[in-house]
Amino acid sequence: MASGDAADVDLAVAAARRAFESAEWSAITPYQRSTMLLQIADVLEANAEELATLETLEMGGAFGMTRWMVDHSVEVFRHYAGWPTKIYGQTAPATPGQFSYVLRQPLGVVAAITAWNGPLLQLSWKVAPALATGNTVVAKPSEQTSLTALRFADLLARTDLPRGVVNIITGTGPEVGESLIRHPDVDKLSFTGSTAVGKHLLEASSSNLKRVTLELGGKSPTIVFADADLEAAAKGSATAFLAGSGQSCVAGSRIFVETSAREEFSRLLAAEMATYTTGDPFDPSTLMGPLASRKHFDRVVSYFDVAREAGAVVTQGGRWEGEDGLFVKPTLVENVTNDMRVAQEEIFGPVAVLMPFEDIDEVVRLSNDTVYGLAASVWTKDLTRAHTMAERLEAGSVWINNPGVMSAGTLPFGGFKQSGIGREHGTDVIEAYTETKTVIVTL
Ligand code: NAD
Repeated sequence: MASGDAADVDLAVAAARRAFESAEWSAITPYQRSTMLLQIADVLEANAEELATLETLEMGGAFGMTRWMVDHSVEVFRHYAGWPTKIYGQTAPATPGQFSYVLRQPLGVVAAITAWNGPLLQLSWKVAPALATGNTVVAKPSEQTSLTALRFADLLARTDLPRGVVNIITGTGPEVGESLIRHPDVDKLSFTGSTAVGKHLLEASSSNLKRVTLELGGKSPTIVFADADLEAAAKGSATAFLAGSGQSCVAGSRIFVETSAREEFSRLLAAEMATYTTGDPFDPSTLMGPLASRKHFDRVVSYFDVAREAGAVVTQGGRWEGEDGLFVKPTLVENVTNDMRVAQEEIFGPVAVLMPFEDIDEVVRLSNDTVYGLAASVWTKDLTRAHTMAERLEAGSVWINNPGVMSAGTLPFGGFKQSGIGREHGTDVIEAYTETKTVIVTL
């Protein structure tokens, strides 16, 4: 894979700036921008099989999942195609002798830096709102999964999008990423990746006070009360930490179960975990493909020793004993306390800890006792308890009686605490990609 350098970043940012200032982009109507976003959705849809195939080849994700992620990206572009014609300014209460109004304008050049676990999906979450609001983009996909971003650039040539509005540059974090986050002509950074790199990015981007959106890591709780439909809760809990082989920012990797339901829930969860077939990601019966890279695999399996050394017990799963490949079985760790590394650190593999709790106060305290705050899933039939939990949990998304629903634009998504800054989607996203300008006219 070709790897760019600082000089390539300069060229890409200059191209994005030229496009931003060109009449071809800045002087078109909102309706024309909508049309281009719809065209992007159409070309992605027409090439969905190929795009999903590339993603499965690059990161090992089960084809059913990568195909879903492409469909989701199509939906995201269609969602944002509705925005350009609906972004309004404001008029302010009149001061005698003055007329005041507020314009909402694009920021300029947006750098989009993404992780490897949902390449096209994450790109769509950044490129679509950036274009809908009239910005231009330089996107750097993860060096591990750059193929769909490159194919995306090819496909854009089949739309009316002017040249230079979207630029893709491949390369490593330390080289291309670093040049982008420090670049004086980049106005906004939209980043999806680890909390460690997110913190670094915040510092490095401060030289010209770039606007920043950060979507970072998580260690999300799944909370099962004894009154829940335990079968549904077991199914949902398994999905929450096994989908994508657990390589998901919102993975429900800490499962809390009310003590009185522990035995039955554990039995049901074990049965669900056993249905997660692992193997060739192109085989339609496979639910979990291999992990994305050898380095990542080594890191994930190292947590089995981390757990044992702390006194925890791997009660299900563990190392794969079948054919060669970066496979990890659906794994459950018990005899865990919330302060153990296995309960606090993002493992990013098909590994969850199971911990019992006695009452609502205890489970709220345990759930919130983490540096992260991306998502939480609550299982109960008691409406009051469900809404009380939703209010008390420190998480950007709370899912009641479901393992996690990803909105393709309508609902805000992002993290509390060290899971991020800002939100993608929802109505807030328009503010994240625009600047307001106050105009005061003396009459
Ligand atoms: P990562 O932080 O290692 O890399 C993410 C991106 O940052 C890559 O493109 C990488 O090249 C780039 N990068 C690395 N060092 C950089 C630097 N010094 N300057 C600029 N860019 C740099 O993360 P990853 O391993 O690719 O992805 C996994 C992480 O992403 C997990 O923590 C996961 O939770 C998180 N994630 C979060 C969300 C969310 O929406 N909150 C979604 C998916 C993944």
